[in-house]
Amino acid sequence: MARASDVSGLERSGWRSKSVKDELRLNVIARLRENRPILPGIVGYEQTVTPQVVNALLSGHDFILLGLRGQAKTRILRSLADLLDDEIPAIAGCEIRDDPLRPVCAACRRRAAEQKGGVPIVWIPREERYHEKLATPDVTIADLIGDLDPIKAATRKLTFADPEVIHYGILPRANRGIFAVNELPDLQARIQVGLLNILEEGDVQIRGFPIRLPLDLLLTFSANPEDYTNRGRIITPLRDRIRSQILTHYPRTLEEAQAITAQEARVDRPAAVRVGVPAYIRTVIEEVAFQARSSELVDQSSGVSARLPIALTENTLSNAERRAFTAGAEEATARISDVLAAVAAVTGKIELVYEGEREGPLAVARHVMGRAVKAVFDRHFPDAYKPGEEAGRILVPGREGDRALGRFHGRGAAPEALRDPEARGSRAQVPGDRDARRDRGGHGVRARGAAPVLAPGEGRDRGRESLPRHVRGHGARPEEAR
Ligand SMILES: [Zn+2]
Repeated sequence: MARASDVSGLERSGWRSKSVKDELRLNVIARLRENRPILPGIVGYEQTVTPQVVNALLSGHDFILLGLRGQAKTRILRSLADLLDDEIPAIAGCEIRDDPLRPVCAACRRRAAEQKGGVPIVWIPREERYHEKLATPDVTIADLIGDLDPIKAATRKLTFADPEVIHYGILPRANRGIFAVNELPDLQARIQVGLLNILEEGDVQIRGFPIRLPLDLLLTFSANPEDYTNRGRIITPLRDRIRSQILTHYPRTLEEAQAITAQEARVDRPAAVRVGVPAYIRTVIEEVAFQARSSELVDQSSGVSARLPIALTENTLSNAERRAFTAGAEEATARISDVLAAVAAVTGKIELVYEGEREGPLAVARHVMGRAVKAVFDRHFPDAYKPGEEAGRILVPGREGDRALGRFHGRGAAPEALRDPEARGSRAQVPGDRDARRDRGGHGVRARGAAPVLAPGEGRDRGRESLPRHVRGHGARPEEAR
């Protein structure tokens, strides 16, 4: 069936007006019934945030996402656009995209009276129905709602009391769609009042002239709880109108965090060099964010963004690439030293407390990265001392420690390291490495695999202490391999 091109055609087609919130509700219900994801691509929120967003949409609530930075708040809001209808009809030429069957602006009501069913309509795709505004202290009522346009008034010989002289702001232009205000507390209190008036009462005063403008919108907000208390606040009546407040969080498991990073990091690059990233390197990168989120040197009230491991992955890859290009190699495998060299991805993404500031961002970043390496190392190599046993008693080779070592070399870093031609070429120069290979039946990768896992700085020494003695004795020789 051809799409209607004027109001009477639309009426004949049987199209019915519905509000944005009803439209979203119906589409959410359809997805729930078909067991299709509501927020595809949002990882780690399946049991927590997503159900609450769905409830808010079913309730027809305007809602706010409250959480620290880098918790996918903006991404969730943007993905709401996918829940709208493919396209909706609107009166052609209307600045606020009036519903053809229920026009609200003065100009459209006049045209409807003059032309009856002949008023032309256009179809608006869903991508054009999501608008967002980053709240900043300099946002004005004119930006958000509109202003009187003296040129319009002069050329059309209208007085300022005539609603047709309004130059609409971003909110009316988002009519019949989704409007997101990011960092709501940064909006001045009197602008928030204007926002409240237009949403609650459907009217607002522009330069003293009362304007009636019943808008049809789903209004969503995001805010950082730190700003909530420190930089600004949300006026109580507006908070009251935002019926659902949904708390976001950082990924709770390493697996979820890795899935997010894998989805977001730019690793598919046009290049002649192929870079392999061993699983343990990915774990270390993710662990850096987890360690930063528990470090006493990092300001936890501002959070450690999920963008940290994403940027760290990208920079780690770049460092391995750079190494390969310089060495004229065609492939490379990312190493711990590449992660440490990617420190630029960490320093800017952690806010420091006073003690951290005294150390400096670089020292804190290295400290956090060292702890991450140590934590991953400890997971691969269990402590030589069984808990509860007297100190000094060493596990017999072939027991837990050795099996963990076997697992590590069997499935972990070793195969990737072997494929790194640069590493193969340089191995002969590592003193002591040849002996290590002979000792272990020529499995010389042990030294390459084990040594870089050791933590730098304070982590390094503790990492070595936790190695089983038989490993330190003749197998890995981490001190020589480095
Ligand atoms: Zn209109």
